[in-house]
Amino acid sequence: MEDVIKKLKKIEQEAIAAIKASSSQGDLEGVKVKYLGRKGRLTAFLRELKNIPSEERPIVGKTANEIKEHLKRQLELKIQELKQLEQNENLAVIDITLPGRRAYFGGTWHPITQTLREICDVFLHMGFEIAEGPDVELDYYNFEALNIPPHHPARDMQDTFYISPKVVLRTHTSSIQSRIMEKQPPPIRVIAPGAVYRCDADVSHTPMFHQVEGLLVDKDISFAHLKGVLTAFMEAIFDKDIGVRFRPSFFPFTEPSAEMDISCIICGGKGCRVCKGTGWLEILGCGMVDPAVFEKVGYDPERWTGFAFGLGVERIAMLKYGINDIRLFFENHLRFLKQF
Ligand SMILES: [Zn+2]
Repeated sequence: MEDVIKKLKKIEQEAIAAIKASSSQGDLEGVKVKYLGRKGRLTAFLRELKNIPSEERPIVGKTANEIKEHLKRQLELKIQELKQLEQNENLAVIDITLPGRRAYFGGTWHPITQTLREICDVFLHMGFEIAEGPDVELDYYNFEALNIPPHHPARDMQDTFYISPKVVLRTHTSSIQSRIMEKQPPPIRVIAPGAVYRCDADVSHTPMFHQVEGLLVDKDISFAHLKGVLTAFMEAIFDKDIGVRFRPSFFPFTEPSAEMDISCIICGGKGCRVCKGTGWLEILGCGMVDPAVFEKVGYDPERWTGFAFGLGVERIAMLKYGINDIRLFFENHLRFLKQF
């Protein structure tokens, strides 16, 4: 019996050594088959039990089963050990001290909204108030009150979206001027930001865009006030010294009327692609309020004078952020929007 037990112990030692020497799950699988499998050494040994004397069988059988259980436990421990090693190796190539990648949860203001807010801020600091009017506007406020009679070229069907013969989508925020003046006596100092609509679409035009209308009415207001306010505004919004020039123009509701240019904010006036080599950028239309507009709202043009201007928000945003296609603002690709 001693010999039999010795043999068993030897098998056990060999198996334990094989388990310890294993460096992969595959190795362990091989050890398991070799010793505990159906044709394994321990299994074969137990089959031989019938050849030993019956009184010795229980002890040998018990020992063999103990060894079997012991080997199973050792195999299981080794598997766990190898798994742990594998995990540690994976961890070793990941630098867990690096900061994590930030998930993108937050939204940001659309560049047009941002620009609109900045524009409003500058005028609010100059003492202007914000006024609002409807997008769907009466023909009267959009055209007639602004000295644009029927059959005037500015009413061209190609430009204006008509809801009905007397109702339009406002083509400019100037439509707010008469609404304000009808409601309150001078002095007036307001800006009116909002969306406007024209039937037009290319690299620099979209059917809907944004304007900020400005209107100031008081005693003894001159073109010098207009120039002062708009120059101060341009320098504030572009955050640099800016040259300005005014070219004669025509709008039915201002007299005299002017187009305001600013020195190119890209090249500083030397000439570049953005300013088409001229050193100047067209930026807005403006003028002194036409007496005919005052008369329609019951203001005495002998007593009051004022100026008005209308600037394009997209135009300012394109110059401020160096964007060359207005349509990017409305396609709303996240990769574009996230830059602001
Ligand atoms: Zn330039």
